[in-house]
Amino acid sequence: MLIGALEAGGTKMVCSIGTPRGGVLQRASFPTLTPEITVPQIVDFIKKFNVEALGIGSFGPLDLNPNSPTYGHITKTPKKDWEGYPLMPELARQLGVPTMIDTDVNAAALAEYKMGAGMGKGSLLYVTVGTGIGGGIVAGGEIVHGLVHPELGHMILAPEEGDPMPDGICRFHRHCLEGLASGPAIEKRWGLSAKLMTYDHPAWELEATYLAQMCANATMILSPEVIVLGGGVMQQTHLFPRIREKTLALLGGYVASDKLTPEGIDSYIVPPALGINSGVTGALLLGAQAIEQRA
Ligand code: ADP
Ligand code: ZN
Repeated sequence: MLIGALEAGGTKMVCSIGTPRGGVLQRASFPTLTPEITVPQIVDFIKKFNVEALGIGSFGPLDLNPNSPTYGHITKTPKKDWEGYPLMPELARQLGVPTMIDTDVNAAALAEYKMGAGMGKGSLLYVTVGTGIGGGIVAGGEIVHGLVHPELGHMILAPEEGDPMPDGICRFHRHCLEGLASGPAIEKRWGLSAKLMTYDHPAWELEATYLAQMCANATMILSPEVIVLGGGVMQQTHLFPRIREKTLALLGGYVASDKLTPEGIDSYIVPPALGINSGVTGALLLGAQAIEQRA
């Protein structure tokens, strides 16, 4: 059985054809221009294969309330051409197969939960640190949606003393996580590409401080069984030991778990087990869920 997967991003649309368990057989990528140009390219590619369902992991925000008349539409987005676009219903109509949509980060969280770092666990938090910061929570096998969907990337943090840019760069909030710790925030603060900074640049201690605040807050609010940190900025793997140490310091020994000890934390705050494939795997799993829901 073949499933179609769409990873809908602000710069490109990656279409994959794969199996319900997440194996990828074919892939094509199209730049994200306007829906009029880009959607036919997606449909033409996927139509070449006899897919039985489509799973979409998309940039957002999205309307994910199944009872809403605009379920599966992109809502507000800085990408004006796509604002209000009915991405899921339109692809479902044109391809004529069961279709399911969720945010890109929720799809990745689902994949890590089912097939990666969360295998055998009851809950998982996945956070991507890239151009933006987003987080997805899976608990008891289900992606947590709630009122809208979590916006963990915009949690408000305590600015660190001596931070040359303590307010951050978010248009909506002062000193939120994304505004302080996304790739663009690092680059604006230090005037240097994050990729070019050596591991001893002061940027990284500060970055670890902010990501540790997030991990400590998430631990206290959600109590996930594992925290997965992915995205471009986390290619700086030296961040992991720093974040783990600072998270333990912030928690102050208060939360009693063998995971929250110097020995245990290495398996609590971890990189994605699926590497860069968590997004596509998640979209394929969503496609498989679309079939189950219809059955
Ligand atoms: P996106 O979030 O756009 O989907 P990424 O997760 O790759 O894509 O994030 C891109 C951001 O991550 C950029 O702001 C870039 O500065 C940063 N980034 C990418 N690779 C690295 C790296 N090796 N080291 C540090 N920062 C990186
Ligand atoms: Zn914000």
